[in-house]
Amino acid sequence: MFCPICKGEFREGFTHCDNCNVDLVEDLNNINVKIDGEFMLCPQCHTEFHEGQTGCPDCGLKLVRAVIDKNDEYVFLEEPVFERVDSTQEFNNLWRHYCEIEPSQAVTVLESMDGEMLKKVMDLLDQNDINFMFVEPNEAASTLGSIFGVNSPLERPFPKIVVKREDEERALTLLANSSELGLFEVPEELVGDDDEEDDDE
Ligand SMILES: [Zn+2]
Ligand SMILES: [Zn+2]
Repeated sequence: MFCPICKGEFREGFTHCDNCNVDLVEDLNNINVKIDGEFMLCPQCHTEFHEGQTGCPDCGLKLVRAVIDKNDEYVFLEEPVFERVDSTQEFNNLWRHYCEIEPSQAVTVLESMDGEMLKKVMDLLDQNDINFMFVEPNEAASTLGSIFGVNSPLERPFPKIVVKREDEERALTLLANSSELGLFEVPEELVGDDDEEDDDE
């Protein structure tokens, strides 16, 4: 029997690792029970996911089961594979208004490496019934680049969120007026009356 966290091997009769306070498993390469406190982790950007996602919206990579050990280090519960997932399928499950948008119709409303920010913006668009699509940075070259540590924004395009041209103004106004985001510079004339100005700075 093995401890899924410290990976120590135990003799017959043991069922629990007291050091890690976790039940032992039979096979470290195929942990088929849920481990206390486990979540999904992106093997590349180390973003944690706790809501059943299978892919990282930022990196587009398959998430890996993981826990945090006593030293606050991530421990993988399965071998990390740097495999891309088809995000469209997953996004369709998460957001009602996620849809394919023709490139000729698409206008970018956000370009960012910040996975949290991307998700917030998609939540916001979805809640306000605006159709949108997530566009991954260009393909194989950029994924290889980031795995090998090349992270220069010059060499690596950002993931984007696009909306249809007809929704552009509504989307930008929405994002500009969101108190949660605060990053957007929108031309004055696009921003309507704003009765909840909170200027914390
Ligand atoms: Zn242990
Ligand atoms: Zn990631």
